[in-house]
Amino acid sequence: MILYDASHNMRFQDYGIMLPISSSRAERVLDHLEGHFEGGTRGHSMPYPGPVFNTASALFYLSGKNTGITRKDLETVHSQEFIAALFGDNDPVPAAEGGGLSGLAKALLAAYELIDSDGKPHRYEPDRAVKPLSSLFQTVLAQVGGTYLACRLALDPGPGFCYYLGGGMHHARYDSGSGFCLLNDIAVAVRKLQTEGRAGLVWIIDLDVHKGDGTAELIHFARWRGELAPPSAAAMPGTMPPCVLTLSVHMARGWPLDAESLAAASPGRAPLVPSDVDIGIETGEEEEYLRLLKEGIVRLEQLSGGNSPDIVLVVDGADVYEHDGLPSSGLLKLSLEQCLARDNFVYRYLIDRNIRSAWIQAGGYGDRAWEPCAYFLGGIR
Ligand SMILES: [Zn+2]
Repeated sequence: MILYDASHNMRFQDYGIMLPISSSRAERVLDHLEGHFEGGTRGHSMPYPGPVFNTASALFYLSGKNTGITRKDLETVHSQEFIAALFGDNDPVPAAEGGGLSGLAKALLAAYELIDSDGKPHRYEPDRAVKPLSSLFQTVLAQVGGTYLACRLALDPGPGFCYYLGGGMHHARYDSGSGFCLLNDIAVAVRKLQTEGRAGLVWIIDLDVHKGDGTAELIHFARWRGELAPPSAAAMPGTMPPCVLTLSVHMARGWPLDAESLAAASPGRAPLVPSDVDIGIETGEEEEYLRLLKEGIVRLEQLSGGNSPDIVLVVDGADVYEHDGLPSSGLLKLSLEQCLARDNFVYRYLIDRNIRSAWIQAGGYGDRAWEPCAYFLGGIR
């Protein structure tokens, strides 16, 4: 099943934000797929909770932004102070009445790296904005809901596979946004599933070219607070307490691993937290990618001691692609064939073991970012 909602698209130019992120990426994936999915019903709206959808061969189009994420869900993984700032709790005077930048505006400017080290706008032209930043926040919230909904659909009776054409904001950290990510939809969705009793053991397989630093941090902090079991619990026999294992396969250098660029982007920023399994791929090691990914999944199996996860979230970043348009993703360049080998391996691994999975689109920049996802989904129909 493929999950898509046009209202979840972030048209950054509408906010004066000049990032190389194409708002038409998901549509181009769907354009490619329409020839592949017999019976795909473009325009069909799917309310949730609703009937069980047990066909893998239909496109479902969501409508509306009410996807059931509450402020409390956000506070389950992010700091209360950060969430309060986003909701404007600490804004003494509304920004519109001359109160200066709101907490939300400050957080968004930081998350999308729109202010340079001299305090000047960077890739940001507020005079060209036609929508308020608060509307961008609503879209971010909708994407958090989309990721959660993809998990719910993957857990429903049926094929156990849902690909959400959105989400993947894996750099968002405990008390700040980062790297074009304001809120961490992955951690929020996983913890919501677990607190609702829908999943015990969860694996997060993050294949975006950039390390999943925010997710690793949020999972680590949840363990530290005693809300999540330590990784060793994954191998326990019997009833599983809420437990999450994280695997990140990413370029071995560059952002966010490069301490210098990190400090420049966010002075005073806390050091990165490791994932349970981190696999850095060096430039020129593209031929080794698949072998190293397989090793990473074997490590997850070992940590799980034969237990099968209730669901796997696959952060399916397309910025590993050699034609990706973001300069900071250029240290790793997989060909289209290598991207497809990556996705097909993970897909087959999960399907063959009857493991349910929710896939989220994550990074992918420029005009050709749609290609890896489109060809992968077209191939598995
Ligand atoms: Zn990325």
